[in-house]
Amino acid sequence: MNIHRFAAVFLLILAVCAFSPAQTRPAQSLSSQTAGDTLAPSGAAADQAKAAKLEHFDPNLVDKSLDPCTDFYQYACTKWLTANPIPPDQVFWGTGSGLQLWNEGLLRETLEAASANDPKRDPVHLKIGDYWFACMDESGIEAAGLKPLQPELDHIAALKSKKDITLEIVRLHHIFPGAWEQSDNQTNAAFFGFTGQQDYDDASKVVAQIDQGGLGLPSRDYYLKTDDKSKELLEKYRAHVKKMFILVGESEAQAAAHANTVVELEAAMAQAQMDNVKRRDPKNINNKMSLAQVRQLTPSIDWDAYLKAINAPASEHYIVTSPDFFRAEEKLIAGHPLDHWQAYMRWQVIHHAAPFMTKALVDENWNFFSHTLAGQEEIQPRWRRCVRNADRDLGEALGQAYVDRAFPPESKARTIQMVHAIETALTSDIQGLSWMSQTTKQQALIKLKGIEDKIGYPSQWRDYSAVKVTRDSFVNNVGQASSFEFERWVAKIGKPVDRGEWTMTPPTINAYYDPQLNTINFPAGILQPPFFDPAMDDAVNFGAIGMVIGHEIIHGFDDQGRKFDAHGNLRDWWTAEDGRQYDERGKCIADEYTQDVPEAGTGVKQNGLLTQGEDTADNGGIHLALYALETSLKQQGKSLDDKGPDGWTYRQRFFLSNAYSWCTHVRPEIARMLVTTDPHSLPVFRIDNVFSNMPEFDQAFGCKAGQRMVRANACRVW
Ligand SMILES: [Zn+2]
Repeated sequence: MNIHRFAAVFLLILAVCAFSPAQTRPAQSLSSQTAGDTLAPSGAAADQAKAAKLEHFDPNLVDKSLDPCTDFYQYACTKWLTANPIPPDQVFWGTGSGLQLWNEGLLRETLEAASANDPKRDPVHLKIGDYWFACMDESGIEAAGLKPLQPELDHIAALKSKKDITLEIVRLHHIFPGAWEQSDNQTNAAFFGFTGQQDYDDASKVVAQIDQGGLGLPSRDYYLKTDDKSKELLEKYRAHVKKMFILVGESEAQAAAHANTVVELEAAMAQAQMDNVKRRDPKNINNKMSLAQVRQLTPSIDWDAYLKAINAPASEHYIVTSPDFFRAEEKLIAGHPLDHWQAYMRWQVIHHAAPFMTKALVDENWNFFSHTLAGQEEIQPRWRRCVRNADRDLGEALGQAYVDRAFPPESKARTIQMVHAIETALTSDIQGLSWMSQTTKQQALIKLKGIEDKIGYPSQWRDYSAVKVTRDSFVNNVGQASSFEFERWVAKIGKPVDRGEWTMTPPTINAYYDPQLNTINFPAGILQPPFFDPAMDDAVNFGAIGMVIGHEIIHGFDDQGRKFDAHGNLRDWWTAEDGRQYDERGKCIADEYTQDVPEAGTGVKQNGLLTQGEDTADNGGIHLALYALETSLKQQGKSLDDKGPDGWTYRQRFFLSNAYSWCTHVRPEIARMLVTTDPHSLPVFRIDNVFSNMPEFDQAFGCKAGQRMVRANACRVW
């Protein structure tokens, strides 16, 4: 899926991973009853369904035999983690995982009901129902075998010269525009990525963006690092590529040669890519070029033919995120014979299609990417994979019933109240800052006032009528949906910006800030227990979802977000001295989080420059949430240190609820991947580092200087 490059999300969920007026919600939803805490188990999924329960904050889970001032994460989470071991088909397992299953269970009920071959279904249910049917039809998929891939493989085999590569890229980009599943927002589309996106200098315009891409592994580091573990993984990848070629009918020798070619080409692309720390700075990727300059950059790609074939509207200019990548790709295309590129493109087809194909391809793809790289011990049941595919491909059609069942208007109203309270907290924070001048404060307040709050779901649902879905080919349905999505983004070029659009679907358990739209977005999926719990008091809710809200707002003011103004333009509104003051405080955060990550293996180190934006948002977000809670209590004539329910003070409940929402098992394999690719810190650091920077926390649990949870050189930006 395509997302705005700088959309700063709250957490990483590693799932898997037409312009008629938007349709209105169906008058009659399939399931109109509000969902309860647990779903009735059905069929083979009974075990999974048992786990599909909403967790509610429970202070009895605190392990009082531990010292809160030594390791608060352990204090708050050990009991829960011990009672809830990680299932073999998971790479993370935390207090939010029951919600993930619960959400997926609701979606499954909607999909199953819609999949009955009933001609009376409305267009929305017809589409999601047939999509579900084709995905769940394993025997049909086995019977079709490799047939669905054959036309594309034949087409690649029939290419006559390197001049033909351009139009094959067009075909590949339609079917597999690049999943953007990679945590650092980098496309894995063949050769490069192409999309429409808001201009950095003038956010009112949509221009063409051409991005580096082309890799099969999660990031360039996997090809370039020379430590033993990295070398071992690269060799396992080579073996995997070879196996996949064998599975589509190549001989042992052919497959081995093709695998070597693929790894060689991808490694050369990786070498030329801009690294993920440099990519965080929008100034580094805001390289505007004319079409003539783009043509010159890579003459081996026929850009005129490419743009014509994808139907791209004329663009005022072209943003080429990393020109060096394209210079290197030019040399690569010129330097390698056609048959090397045919092997690479064959790989692109097989690799991207594998999750939607026969069991042999699904299993081998899982074995490398989910088992070897991420540590999963068992593949997830098919229904879960199908739910997530449907959510990715038809999310706003599927999400309508979810909203009806799981997101009552009262939840929306209470969330909006909390958002306003937290925005007010940031207003006071900015006004009171000792290090910021009045000039910059005024600008900051204008930006804060300009933030648009989007809660739950879009006001207009996406129209999927152009997506052709049938009951008989799952992989073709995915290709159709991908094509639709690719064309939808390309067609935005030159048109006014659609401010109403969301880049997350309603059931998603996540949230984001979009610096170019200056919006914060909270899908209905995260506005559920344990993050948002209508049954709980303010202390619990400000501690959990309040911190998420604060986190997203702070993204507008983190080390990169602060470079955009209220209108989403990349424009420096800081005085030089205030900018310097900011950077000093930001450096404290980056230094603090440049730390060992034993959870990911010995010698693995986090790069605080990669996670600085997220860490800044965590640290600032919790201050805002705490301040908003304090204000809310004051209005009720109470204070943070009054005793609340269960004998804990409100201040204590706030921190306990925040920590509780983060209790998560993380497998070492996925931890290693995240440290390499993900801009978020691991859950344990999102508690222990953040709290150890806060005197407000010391006050809650009586922690004293010298104890581990009291940092001598505490950092504070917001
Ligand atoms: Zn974030």
